[in-house]
Amino acid sequence: MGIYHGFGRGESRNDIRVHTESAEEEHRGHREENPRAQARAPVLHVVVWYDSEFGCGEKTYLSKSKQSLTVIPLGGLGEFGMNMMAFRFGDDILVVDAGMMFPESELLGVDLVIPDITYLKQNRQHVRAIVLTHGHEDHIGALPYILRDLNVPIYGTRFTLALVKKRLAEAGLLDSAKLFEAVPGRLVEIGPFEVEFIAVTHSTIDCVALAIRTPVGVVIHSGDFKIDQTPVDHYQFDLHAFARYGNEGVLALFSDSTNVERPGFTPSERVVAPRIEELTRSAPRRVVLTCFASSVHRIQQVIDIADRVGRKVAFVGRSMVDNVEIAHDLGYLRIPDGMVVRPQDIRSFDPKKLIVLASGSQAEPMSSMSRIAVDNHRFVTIDENDTVILSARIIPGNEKAIFRMLDHMFRRRALVYYDNSAGPIHVSGHASQEEQKLLLQLVKPKYFIPVHGEYRHLFRHAALAHQLGVVSGEIMLLEDGKCVEFTEDGAFRRDPVTAGRVLVDSGSLEEIEEIVVRDRKHLSEEGVVIPIIAIDKHTGRVESAPEIVTRGLMSENGNEMLEGARQVVARTVENSNLEERADWSVIKEKIRVDLKRYINKQTSKRPLILPVILEV
Ligand SMILES: [Zn+2]
Ligand SMILES: [Zn+2]
Repeated sequence: MGIYHGFGRGESRNDIRVHTESAEEEHRGHREENPRAQARAPVLHVVVWYDSEFGCGEKTYLSKSKQSLTVIPLGGLGEFGMNMMAFRFGDDILVVDAGMMFPESELLGVDLVIPDITYLKQNRQHVRAIVLTHGHEDHIGALPYILRDLNVPIYGTRFTLALVKKRLAEAGLLDSAKLFEAVPGRLVEIGPFEVEFIAVTHSTIDCVALAIRTPVGVVIHSGDFKIDQTPVDHYQFDLHAFARYGNEGVLALFSDSTNVERPGFTPSERVVAPRIEELTRSAPRRVVLTCFASSVHRIQQVIDIADRVGRKVAFVGRSMVDNVEIAHDLGYLRIPDGMVVRPQDIRSFDPKKLIVLASGSQAEPMSSMSRIAVDNHRFVTIDENDTVILSARIIPGNEKAIFRMLDHMFRRRALVYYDNSAGPIHVSGHASQEEQKLLLQLVKPKYFIPVHGEYRHLFRHAALAHQLGVVSGEIMLLEDGKCVEFTEDGAFRRDPVTAGRVLVDSGSLEEIEEIVVRDRKHLSEEGVVIPIIAIDKHTGRVESAPEIVTRGLMSENGNEMLEGARQVVARTVENSNLEERADWSVIKEKIRVDLKRYINKQTSKRPLILPVILEV
């Protein structure tokens, strides 16, 4: 059995494929009768990707076909976040999703990361639309930045568009935006593409997969999904639509790889209800529950539980309040009359009769939960015997901050629940292996391309598909920028396009190509301010007046400004409580924010501010 099967001159192309046994069997025309495909343990032959010593692109193959569909992954293949993929048929480009990614902590001063859209800008006259699968930040978060460069029509479902509208309004782009509501089950024609929005279930509402019909064939993009057969909102995963396309024949499937490391099925969203209800019923005092603000089903279940156990709910945190408002206005959230307690009334409300739903499950600095944890929230405190429920995944990278936050809660003698050890209080919104297999079985694509994951997830998803043996053509491991062209002759590797991360400072809406460039530029133009504060680690007391060192920040009334800056820092520290002072990431962030505002007001500059805390 040749590894290079299916290519005239395979040696230059085989390196992009996971070769499947089933492909051979089908080509030999007796796949149905051949039980070996099931019986034998499959072997992954070749997974080497884009070796640069092979010249790739136009020259390396000759296609007789004139029509072709090119897939251009721009983000999300190789990382979690900034999902974006372009499909090009002739001169028409359709983009799926435009997500952002939160930066790793080492990207100092960068607020968020978006995909590099150089390719789309170079082809701006050809971009017909951006089609959205759902409203998570990793799928819509880059829109405010991208639309400034590329104002193209946007298609999405009602809830997704409502979230997009909010973002665009904040960025001042709403008036010029062209938004079109998509309805699951209906078709939309966009240039040569006919797009069907297929209802899927996930950890937020109104999510869709996409079936994109082109003259070359139908491609299906799963979006983010799990197969929840008992969704809280009764909007079912449309298995039939996938089966229908599967029967018709699907050219390529792009499917969510997030949970490929998990065997079995992801449980239904409903599984969290019994445990949360039990904790709420037995809670001696107030319950403070945090989940992702976009988890509308979770919020619905908590409201339903509150109703059953005779408690009221209060929503705190901007994103929580915003999302609840949007979902309620659109009729996605059922809230009984008289159920909601206003934040300002929480203190005076009987703690035995209340559930507080707060945002900040990842202990984001300045979020409600982070503030509540250190007694710095206007309306909510944690007292002895309060119940705290973290009903969210602990996203890798956030562990330290989250556990530090929970420690503050434990220190206050709260009853803190943050894992599923005694019954699920959180469940994933992504498909596990069995659901991923089911989707593959239904769609039976000719080509399969895993998406939404780091490289190992994509790889393991490819291996899973291979093991299944339903992919009749090939399984391809693509990464951002690595393009593939489909023609009637097959699938061909193309010259890679520019792809990568663009770092953004959301305050200035400025794109930053490289962090180094940004810092250098920043330093040269705006200078640097280093406030130095000595804090006693045990008492949390400030030991001496703050020192401020500046470079490259010229000002006529320099001394006056420095004195003012010293006072700002001293005041910020004074106004923070002992726990905040002991938590250096919190106190540094507070100093940075306050000082930034002051210096900007005084000098209209935005220097790099690097607070230094000396432990004494
Ligand atoms: Zn999602
Ligand atoms: Zn996602």
